Amino acid sequence: MDFTPSAKELSHFPFLKKAQDHVKGRFSSLDFLFTDTKGEALIDRALGRIQDAITPKKTFTPEITGTAGDEIAGYALARIIVSCLHDKTLIDRLTRYEAERAYYFLVNEEEWNQNYKQGEGEYSRLCIILAQELGIQITKDRIPLVDYVELVAPLHQDRYHLVNRRLEHGFVDIKKDERYELLRERIRVLLRRDLPHKVPATVCEKLSPRFALLKKAYQEQMLQQFGTIEESSFPPCMQSLITALTAGVNLTHAGRFSLTTFLHTIGMDANAIGELYARSPDFDLDKTMYQVEHITGRGGSGTEYTAPACAAMRTTGLCIHPDALCEKVNHPLSYYKAKKRDLKKSIKKE
Ligand code: SF4
Repeated sequence: MDFTPSAKELSHFPFLKKAQDHVKGRFSSLDFLFTDTKGEALIDRALGRIQDAITPKKTFTPEITGTAGDEIAGYALARIIVSCLHDKTLIDRLTRYEAERAYYFLVNEEEWNQNYKQGEGEYSRLCIILAQELGIQITKDRIPLVDYVELVAPLHQDRYHLVNRRLEHGFVDIKKDERYELLRERIRVLLRRDLPHKVPATVCEKLSPRFALLKKAYQEQMLQQFGTIEESSFPPCMQSLITALTAGVNLTHAGRFSLTTFLHTIGMDANAIGELYARSPDFDLDKTMYQVEHITGRGGSGTEYTAPACAAMRTTGLCIHPDALCEKVNHPLSYYKAKKRDLKKSIKKE
């Protein structure tokens, strides 16, 4: 099928090669960002996009401000910025946001754009073409098994389990809504795979004065998400690490890294984390603060690290005494959030 989308349609799916080609000229050199007033506006647009990505309640609208080219360039620059910031959670948030946004347009495109409707009711031509552009042979109501298995791996709903699907001649039947959901997942995986970009250090340095507000908003959002620190809601792995520290045991490097990143993400400041390590037998204030600041992004590199997921914790032998709630989560931070929520509910009931 010949795919000739309008500029506006390309701005809805800015990750497509055709969309990138549309703004190619703009990114031949990033110098214009710092020498041209248009560059300044583009940085604002990209920062706004990341800001939207970290906002818990996302709203999408069909209208865009500025030109389609601005929108596509803002998408590309936002990816450059999160690459400079090197924060895994932020990168995840942005890729999820982009996938959600594309999903929103896909679901609504049928209504808006009659050009892409075939004469057979609700069958969306755009959806099929987009799937082809993203490398999967999805059709109106089925998808090759091999693509299906890869796409549903991170999806946990029972309905996606292969035992609950109709399988015929190497294809899995899917419903209309599922077609969109699988495409959303494909977009997320593809966009995540390419990040972080290798951005020249000089570009990140020049951009960095513009990051302060974003970092503040991000930190506030994380604090809002995790609320006040509740040690009683810590997952067993983190409790074990703290118990070991308190008992005067030296933690391994992986143990220190996991605990520090976990505590930092839930909002404990670097000084308080440093104080915790004062219980360690080989405590050295300068060395500890250097390590803590390095991990929490306050040191020279500016890189904030994220707490390892349960799978990585198991690999390093740090998944200690998992309990029943552990079976429902795949990240210590998810455990913490779920436990806090449960505690809140039971206090309310009482
Ligand atoms: S399953 Fe995850 S949250 Fe639970 S103890 Fe292991 S690493 Fe921690």
